[in-house]
Parts: sequence; structure tokens; C-alpha cells
Amino acid sequence: MNLRLRLTLWYSGILAVVTVVFGVVVYAMVAAILTNQIDVSLKSSADQIIAAIRPASLTGASRLVNTLPNLERFGSLSVFAQIWLPDGTLAVKSEQLTYTKPLDPDALKDGQTALRDVTIDGVHLRVYTQPVLGLDGKVQATVETAALLHTVDTTTNILLVVLISGGVVAVVAAAVIGGITAQRALAPLETITQTALQITRADDLSRRIPMPSAPQDEVGRLGMAFNESLERLERLFNTQRRFLADVSHDLRTPLTTIRANVDLLRRMGGADPTSLDAIQSEAERMSRMVGDVLVLAQVDAGTLPLAHDLVELDTLLLEVFQETQVVAGGVKLVLGELDQAVVVGDRDRLKQVLLNLVSNGLKYTPEGGRVTLGLALVNEWVRVTVTDTGPGIPPGELPRIFDRFYRTDKARSRAVGGAGLGLSIAQSIAQLHGGRIEAASDGQAGHGTTFSLWLPLAAPKGSGIASPAQA
Ligand code: ADP
Repeated sequence: MNLRLRLTLWYSGILAVVTVVFGVVVYAMVAAILTNQIDVSLKSSADQIIAAIRPASLTGASRLVNTLPNLERFGSLSVFAQIWLPDGTLAVKSEQLTYTKPLDPDALKDGQTALRDVTIDGVHLRVYTQPVLGLDGKVQATVETAALLHTVDTTTNILLVVLISGGVVAVVAAAVIGGITAQRALAPLETITQTALQITRADDLSRRIPMPSAPQDEVGRLGMAFNESLERLERLFNTQRRFLADVSHDLRTPLTTIRANVDLLRRMGGADPTSLDAIQSEAERMSRMVGDVLVLAQVDAGTLPLAHDLVELDTLLLEVFQETQVVAGGVKLVLGELDQAVVVGDRDRLKQVLLNLVSNGLKYTPEGGRVTLGLALVNEWVRVTVTDTGPGIPPGELPRIFDRFYRTDKARSRAVGGAGLGLSIAQSIAQLHGGRIEAASDGQAGHGTTFSLWLPLAAPKGSGIASPAQA
């Protein structure tokens, strides 16, 4: 459930509860006040009747009948009365009352004072019953006064309709207004989310969140804070990229000088050859690393120069095969199936990728093992495979070998490994050519590893298509 819906539901839910409580209280109070007025009037009418008949009642029931008061004198016209004798006969009743049975038979039978709501032939009445006692304490007569509840019912019904319809209108209005307000308030958050996602997807820190119209509210301040963070991040990233590119570029010159001077010293003689070898190999290692870091910095900055030539990949692979065979040592380098394939790209950079994959195979495969190269066409793609019979890569480490400076535990503990930048650069170059490198290995010693370089085939001449669609 989204935030907008939750806010709206809470909003209207609370209002609905308040409205219901308010309505119940108002309804109960109005009904009680109206009924109470009627009760007071019924009791006072009954009291007046009893006061009028009491002197007569002292001398016995038979006399009572003759001395009953004229009921019309008591109370208003809306109050009816009956006087019942203990033997169950109706002594007298209001003239406008046509009903000759007891208005509240149960109360009459009980001989107790009672106030009840009664419905007779569909007519709703409030009935007050009060017995009249003689000196002997016996019931001489029973007075029943009644009033129509018609006005009370109509009033409470109208009140109920007003309260329910008012409550429904209030809750619906609150839900609609609350929903619109919440949507307006939260809309900039959606924009912030979309922008953040675009930044992540496009890897582009130069984007900014469009500022909302009310920059001073909470959401506006969030947008501003987010933009400030982005600005700072962008500045930091750019500084870091520039720094990396500048440092690696500037380190190349002193390293070249060191290597040149080592050569000179060697030619002049006199210096310890072992020390010179150590200096030279470390300087070369460092030159390679600095070169790799420079390439990665250029990839990040999008400034790596790349040619877009037609490259015969089979010829290039053959070239790499011949060059690396010389350094294969005890590992057998084999050429497997080789299809003809032309791709669009930078020949030198593609050669660098192939050299990296083949030399890794040779480097990590123990003596007596084998590294097989192959090239096959798969749909619109060309797949170059380098398969070795080396130690393999554990499945847990497989996804990480393309990370910068990542070396598996086995490689780290051995002397052969480089800095862990080769595959990362190779993957970046493959991606800049619209392709990718995949590694497959079950991580079992001797089962080896297969690296596959996938590149889009160059479209046949005249097709008008620069490169094929994603396979
Ligand atoms: P390095 O310069 O250390 O070889 P790479 O980026 O080329 O760096 O390779 C990263 C890591 O991947 C290596 O350290 C090694 O652990 C592993 N790796 C690469 N190729 C192979 C292979 N053919 N067999 C086993 N492990 C390999």
C-alpha cells in the first residue's frame, strides 16, 4: 500500500470515527431530552388526576366512579388518560381516545408505577401507569396517561438522516481532499525517486532533481539536500578520476627514465646484475600497472580512444596464438575450431583482450596442462573461447574476477598473479565494443576454466546495419 493511500485512509478513518461518536452522542442527547419532556408532562397529568380523585377514593371504589374528574381539564390535548378499576373495568377515559383496552396491560397487571414505550395498532406511544392506593393500602384505581411519540420519532429520524448524510459527505470530502493533498505533497518525492533511478541507471551524476515550486517545505528541502549531495559527489568523482588519470600519466615518465637508466647501467657494467634485474622487473611491473590504471581511468572518464575499423578476428586470434606459443613453456597451446569472423572495433584493444585471456590461461595452468583457443559464429555473434585445464575458479569467486584488483585466494598465494586488473580492463573493452566476457568453471582442480568473449559480428557489406541487435 503506497504512502498516499495510507495517509488518505488514516485521515478519513479518523474523521469517520469522530463523526460516528459525535453523531451517537448528539442523537442520544436529543432523544433523551425530547422523551424526558414527555415523561414530565405525563407524570404531572397523572399527578393532577390522582389529586382530583383521591378524596373520593377514601370512601370506596363504588363512589369513585361517580366522582371521577373530567379528564379534559388535565394536561394538554396531546396527553390521553384512562382510569382503570381493580376489577378490570375502564372507569373513564379521555374523549379523544377511542381505544378502550388498557394502554399498557402489563403495567396494569403488575400494579406498579411504570413508564414504557408501547405500540398500539402501529401507533407509537409513551405510557405512564400509576396505581392509586386507598387508606388500607389496596389499589383503588390505576391511572394511565399517554402521549403520541410521533413528534419525537419524526425529529429523531430527521436528525439521524442529517447526521448520517452529513457524516458520509464529510468523510468522502475528507478522503477526496486528503487524497489530492497527499498526492500533491508527495509528487515531488516520486520525481526525486525517478531521478535517483535514472542517475543509477545511466551512471550519470550530472543530473539534478527539478526543484519543486515550494522549495521551503520538507520535500523541497529534501530535493535541495539531494541535489547538494549529488553536486558534491560529482565533484569528488571528477576530482578522483582526474587525479587517477594525471597520476598514472605522470608516473609513466619517471618509470621510463628508471628503466632507461637501468639499461645504461647494465651496458656500462660495474653494477650488481641481480640488483639491476630486480630493479628492472619491478619497474616493468609498475609500468604495466600504471598503464592499466590509466586505461581504467580513461574508461571511467569515457575518454579511452577507440578505433572503429573492420577487424578480422580469426586472423587476430591466430596472431595471438603465434605470439603466446613462444611463452607457453610447459603448457600446450592448441588451436581448435576457427571460423572466419569480422567485427567492428579497435584492433589493438581487441588484441589486448585476447592476449589477456590467453596469457591468464597459460599463467594459471600448471605444466603439462593445455589451453585451447576457438572461434565460432553463434547467430549474429562471434564467440572466442579460451579453455584451460588449470585449477578452475570456485563458483563463489566467479562473479568477482572481473572486479578491479580482485584476485582469487589461490592466485594471491601464488607468485604468478598480476595486480588483478587484466580481466577488469578486458571486460570494459569488450563492453565498449558492444560485447561481453563470460567465465565458466566448476572450480574443481583440473576441470579448468572457459572464458568466452562475445562480440557482435560486423554487418555484411551493403546491409546498412552497423552492428547486430542483442542476441
Ligand atoms: P591477474 O593480473 O591477477 O591475472 P586478472 O584480472 O587477469 O588479474 O584476473 C583476476 C583473477 O582471476 C586472477 O587473479 C585469478 O585468480 C583469476 N583467473 C583469471 N584467469 C584465470 C584462469 N584461467 N584460471 C584460474 N583463475 C583465473
